[in-house]
Amino acid sequence: MNLILVGPPGAGKGTQGEILSKKLGIDTISTGAMLRAAIKNGTEVGKMAKSYIDEGKLVPDEVMIRLVKERLSEPDCANGFILDGFPRTTAQAEALTESGVKIDKVLSIELADEIIVERLSSRRECSKCAAPYHLIFNKPKVDGVCDKCGGELIQRADDNPETIKNRLNVYHEQTEPIKEYYDKLGLLVKAYGQEEIADTTKEVFKALGLEV
Ligand code: ADP
Ligand code: ADP
Ligand code: ZN
Repeated sequence: MNLILVGPPGAGKGTQGEILSKKLGIDTISTGAMLRAAIKNGTEVGKMAKSYIDEGKLVPDEVMIRLVKERLSEPDCANGFILDGFPRTTAQAEALTESGVKIDKVLSIELADEIIVERLSSRRECSKCAAPYHLIFNKPKVDGVCDKCGGELIQRADDNPETIKNRLNVYHEQTEPIKEYYDKLGLLVKAYGQEEIADTTKEVFKALGLEV
């Protein structure tokens, strides 16, 4: 299964992607996590991406398309993959289609803007393995420590109210049109985000025709 996850910041792409990855036995490719790792490692891509991410803007299409094409050409992707956070523009979607990568389904996780700001202010992320957490809905066993790798949990620099507002605008203006693009190709399915992670998972599995 080659799957794309679309949705506003905080919709639950990373969280559901992790659950789907286990269920389907395929890797999740998160472009946001790739960029944050690049920044941490001080690579050329990281250096150029940082200012865009800090402002809640999109990193230029050419950079992202090159990054994702490289990643998708690695051998593990032959078994299937879950793309989280790419494509984010119609140009990126078109480039993916043109590169000949077959997509089976595009899952849109829908969530109202009002819920997002509040939800993202309590998001935490493992500084080592990027696993997602939430101070109320997905607490680590020990405060501030990743259950999986013992890494320190941090708040993302772009999860502040001002930047979140920018990212929401960018989502509606530049990313949402890809839903129509994939709907025309007959690939779009929708799941509605719920208050609890497990309830969202039920909706996600239903939308994808998977058994809970
Ligand atoms: P995205 O990858 O779409 O930006 P995340 O998966 O990182 O979203 O989720 C954003 C935050 O909300 C995280 O802190 C996550 O633990 C939490 N979260 C995810 N899904 C739900 C849900 N259904 N209910 C409550 N909190 C959720
Ligand atoms: P979220 O989980 O909040 O949806 P991500 O972790 O997916 O956010 O992405 C964080 C930031 O990384 C975005 O705000 C954007 O600046 C950059 N980014 C990630 N993926 C892409 C992409 N496909 N195209 C352009 N910029 C991207
Ligand atoms: Zn970790």
